[in-house]
Order: sequence, then structure tokens, then C-alpha cells
Amino acid sequence: MLGLMQDRPLTLPHVFHRAEQYFAHKTVVTAEADGETSMTIGEWAGRVRRLATVLDTLGVSADGRVGTFCWNTGRHLELYLAAPCTGRVLHTLNIRLFPEQLVYIVDHAEDEVVFVDRSLIPVIAPLAAKMGTVRQFVVIDDGADAEVPEGWLDYEELLAAAEPFTGTFVVEDENTAAAMCYTSGTTGNPKGVVYSHRSAVLHSLITLTADAFALSERDVVLPVVPMFHANSWGLPYGCLLAGSDLVMPGPNMTPQAIASLLARHRVTVTGGVPTIWMGMLPMVGDHDLSHLRMIVCGGSAVPRSLSESYRTTVGIPLTQAWGMTETSPIATMSTPRSHHDALTEDERADIRARQGQPVPFVDMRLVDPDSGEVQPWDDTATGEIQAAGPWIAKEYYRGEGGGAQYTEDGWLRTGDVGTGDRYGFVRLVDRTKDLIKSGGEWIGSVELENEIMAHPKVAEAAVIAIPSEKWVERPLACVVVKPGETLTGEEVIEFLTPRVAKWWLPDAVEFIDEVPKTSVGKFSKKTLREKFGGYQVAGPTSHEPA
Ligand code: ADP
Repeated sequence: MLGLMQDRPLTLPHVFHRAEQYFAHKTVVTAEADGETSMTIGEWAGRVRRLATVLDTLGVSADGRVGTFCWNTGRHLELYLAAPCTGRVLHTLNIRLFPEQLVYIVDHAEDEVVFVDRSLIPVIAPLAAKMGTVRQFVVIDDGADAEVPEGWLDYEELLAAAEPFTGTFVVEDENTAAAMCYTSGTTGNPKGVVYSHRSAVLHSLITLTADAFALSERDVVLPVVPMFHANSWGLPYGCLLAGSDLVMPGPNMTPQAIASLLARHRVTVTGGVPTIWMGMLPMVGDHDLSHLRMIVCGGSAVPRSLSESYRTTVGIPLTQAWGMTETSPIATMSTPRSHHDALTEDERADIRARQGQPVPFVDMRLVDPDSGEVQPWDDTATGEIQAAGPWIAKEYYRGEGGGAQYTEDGWLRTGDVGTGDRYGFVRLVDRTKDLIKSGGEWIGSVELENEIMAHPKVAEAAVIAIPSEKWVERPLACVVVKPGETLTGEEVIEFLTPRVAKWWLPDAVEFIDEVPKTSVGKFSKKTLREKFGGYQVAGPTSHEPA
């Protein structure tokens, strides 16, 4: 017997029309290179309707890829809806990719048109001639004075000349592609993840749920995480669905500028990678951030000490989320639950340092990489985290990567290793490729980093594997000391000794000025491994714990 409910597709046009009809009075503020602009959602929706016609006029094919090379802005948000609502596919380009990778992904996705913020012209213009599939570049003038190459069109002129689309947007099949995003390609070429309307809608609904971001009409949201980094973690679509106001940081991503925006616009929810919050920490005391109710942090492990510093200075800790480009990205959230209420503040900080519980409809399992056996949720057994769900990729665009990252029964291999407690609160130990295998046993670099970063004089720390004849691999700690402080390698080891097993203690400590970062602000261990590859250490005499 079949259910007798209406079979309506889950598509982004609903998100657009809902925002246009009910939330026309809400606002999107954008910090531009030369000031700030504000428009109502009503005005924004009118512009989306014009943009829909512009895409037709530009001759973008029915399911053509529409590239964006933009900061987080209200106009980027116009493209976020106009492309998928007209059946096209939004392709957000990472503005910090290496040039050859950028050319590769534009070509691989066959982008037909690319919208470029004027301040970013110097980055993409030298590559334009190599982007053979792109018929047109359109410049969005963000107040920068970069010279516009000949033949590139002007966004505002196109909109002004366009008739608005007056009907209702319809995408009949919810499985139609809505957007694409390439992984940042730390190993090999970036791989294309293709989101469907259905996955984007379901993921947006999750961002509204109480144990996730709990986005509501009352919120004022500032997405610091770029709109090209896994759809800004779903915040733009989530906010439109909920009716939240949006504050877009634009090109000025300095901690000072972001802190000032958070305070001036009484932002309630924001999200970004740990590097952002680390950079902002010294100035949070100078701003009134009392309206913030949630600071989402993810993309890499959230140092316990960093979260605690926010709790004591701003009044709220960082809320950890875990995910990947392949998971849309929200997969787990570490929001506190009732069974944590009885814990001490210190114990709660330990929970917050975990990646959290899978959100509804994300299935997760821990699989031993050697035996292939599923591990129990006993907080001790570790395994590779595998995930499945309606907003998790089943393969890469054009079969790239040959399916190695997917299991035979259709789960995504995340490449992360972790453990989980009986409530499903995952604790990530490491990425498989960053694990240090000392004498066949694992040392979790993420865990070690967290302990080193707990030292009051340490700003950042990254731990990598270095060669050892006896143990094959041993840990090397790369430490950044806080400005004005001094620290020795012996002091670091002394601090760690009561905190970790003796055989986990790094064999060498290197002091560096800054941990190199990837294009999305994560620790680039590859760069560190290249830098310190010449190391050879003897390692301990045994793996005895004490
Ligand atoms: P890339 O894989 O190229 O870095 P993603 O942004 O998709 O691009 O990264 C996903 C990875 O980021 C995850 O597999 C995980 O290793 C890491 N990650 C994301 N969130 C967290 C978190 N809260 N804690 C630890 N690692 C995280």
C-alpha cells in the first residue's frame, strides 16, 4: 500500500519563493571594498528574477555550469538562487586554488560563464585565455579599482537591461543538479561534488533544526566561511529558508573587520574555520559580541583551548561541527545535550572538543581498516569514519577517483579516523593520511596538537610524521609561540609528559613563525612534511606507556 501524500519535489525554487513572499522585509548587508550596502530580500528577489533572464540572454545552456569567483556578498547570493532555479548548475570556484587547479576545475566542470568580483580580476584574468569552455566573464563591481579586461561584461548593466522573469521557477526533478563544488585537492586533482536540489533542500532543513544551527527568522547570520567552501556550510540556503537576516563580509576578511561587523550588526550566528577565530581572539574584548548565540567552528579540529578562550571572553564557546565537501557539509554537531548537563565545565569542554553527534539522516559507522569490521560505539575502539545519507555524495563528477572513496555498499569513506561514545559523539583522532604510525601503532596528530595548544604560550601547533629507522614514523611538533613569549622544546615536552602516553611524546620540536595553511585555511601538513622531510630520529627505546 502506498502513502497518499502529495509527491512534490524538494527543490530550491521553493526556498526562493518562500523568501520572496514572506521575508521581503528582511535584509542582506554586504561589506564592500568601499563601504557597506544593504538590500531587502524583496529587492534581492527582484534582482534574482532579472539575473534569471540574464542567464538566458547570455546563452547559458539549459543545464550549463555557472561559475562564480566571488567573496561572500549579497550578489553572490543572487547567483546562488538564479542559477539552480533556472535549471543551471552553480559552480563556486575557490579563489585561493593554485592557478593550474583553477583552470582544471573550470575546464572539468565546463563552466560556460564565470561571474567575477572586480577585486578578484587580477587573480583570474591571467588565466582566462586558458579557460576554453568559458564564453563570457561578467564583472561584479565591488568598489575595487582593478582594470576590467576588454570584452568582459558588467553585472549591473546586464541586470539593468534585463526584464525580470515574472513566473514561478520550476525544477521538476528534485534529483537535478543544483550546485557543484570541488574538493580542495590536497592529494591529486580536485574532485567534483555535485549537489542536487533535493540534497540542498534537505541539508538546509537540517541547519534549521534545534540541535544543529537552529536557524530562525530571529537570527542575524554572518557566514565567514566562504561561499565557495562547501556552500558556506549551508548557511545561505538555510537563512533564506528560515528568513534570517544575512550580513556578508565581502572582500575584507581581516579579523578586525569581522569583529566590527559582528558587533555593529548584532549578529547572532556566525561560522568559520578555527584559523578565523584564532585570529580574532586578541580583539574580541574590544567589541560588544553579546548578541552572539552560536559560533560554529569546523573544517578542522577545534582546539579545546581556543573554544575555552571564547567561553571566558565572549561568553559562549565555539560549537564544533564536522563535515566535508562530500557531505554538503554538515554531518555531525557538538551541541550540548541533556546528558551533559550534570558534567563539570571542564568535562563539558572535553565534549565540545569532540566533533559531535551525527545529525538526523546521516548514518555513520566506524570501520577497522585492516579487518573491515564495524567497531562498537564504546568510546575506545577506533575506526575509519564512514558516512551515508541523502546529502552525502555517492560518486564524484565524471567518475573521478574511480570510486576508491566509496565502499561497495555505498558509504563514503571519509578518510578520518575516530571513535564515538554511546550517544554517538564522535571524537576524531586524525585523518588517515596524517596519522603517525610508530612501530605499527597509531599516534593521533590531532590529539597531540590539541594538547600542545593547551599550553598558555602556544598560538598554534601542527604535528607531522618524520622518518625513524626503528619505528618507521615518529612525531615532530611544529609550534608557533604567542607574540612576546618565549618557549623551549624541553618545556613543550615537559608540559606534554603528564598528558599523553610516553611513546606519543614528539621526538623533536621545531619553532616556526606560522603554520602554513591550505586554500580554505586548514593546516597544510603536506607543506610541513616537505619542509621537514630530511629529519631522521631514533625515537624512544620502547612503547611502554610510562
Ligand atoms: P579537504 O578534504 O580538501 O580539506 P574539506 O573541506 O571537504 O576539504 O575537508 C574535509 C575534512 O576536514 C574532513 O575529512 C576532516 O578531516 C576535516 N574536518 C572537518 N571538520 C572537522 C572537525 N570539526 N574536526 C576535525 N577535522 C575536521
